[in-house]
Amino acid sequence: MKPAPEAPRPPAPRLMPRPSLGDEVYELLLAEVIANRMAPGDRLSVDGLARQFGVSQTPIRAALIRLEAEGLVVKKHNSGYSVADQLSATRFRDTYDFRLLVEPATAAAAARHATPAQIEALRTATLRMGKLSSDTKANYSRFAVADAEFHGQIAEAAGNEIVRESLHRLYTHMHLFRLRYHATVAVDAVNEHDAIVAAIAARDARGAETAMRAHIEASRRRMEPCFNET
Ligand SMILES: [Zn+2]
Repeated sequence: MKPAPEAPRPPAPRLMPRPSLGDEVYELLLAEVIANRMAPGDRLSVDGLARQFGVSQTPIRAALIRLEAEGLVVKKHNSGYSVADQLSATRFRDTYDFRLLVEPATAAAAARHATPAQIEALRTATLRMGKLSSDTKANYSRFAVADAEFHGQIAEAAGNEIVRESLHRLYTHMHLFRLRYHATVAVDAVNEHDAIVAAIAARDARGAETAMRAHIEASRRRMEPCFNET
């Protein structure tokens, strides 16, 4: 027997996806660390943070574990969590050397292999970063995360999973942005990203390589003064 046709149902009300409490707490803590409002060596008490943010200890612990994996906080036996040290000068130099070895060639490969959908996604990412850069102070850590995602998307468009994973595991952008709050960082980076995306969209491999190298070298120049100021 055939089931009776169902009356068309009204569409279910849709909720906008909301970040979970854990994500919100993580973002708040990340912003504090990247903006250096929580300084290297500062103790992070689970209990204290739970009271400060008005939440239970569970999301605080989850956020701290995530930040520990990203190298932004450290957990010491018996003394709990504290904010990790800044990048050393050696690690800073090695980070940029690694990026200069890998990312220009990756951008060239992206120009050859990116699908139209990937190019569109890169355009969307740069537009979003442009919006974030209009209020750098409020969005500083979000900008750092978006920058990391942008570089990951290029590795993905290049079809190189190893590069994407390596960049992700270094959490490079979070560590670099933490070195100094610099209002022009974001605006300059957005313009440089536009040049990279334009070359990828034009299937100009050499142009993409050059634009990526210029971006990384400019980024190094922007961040370098942190090591000469003290
Ligand atoms: Zn960038």
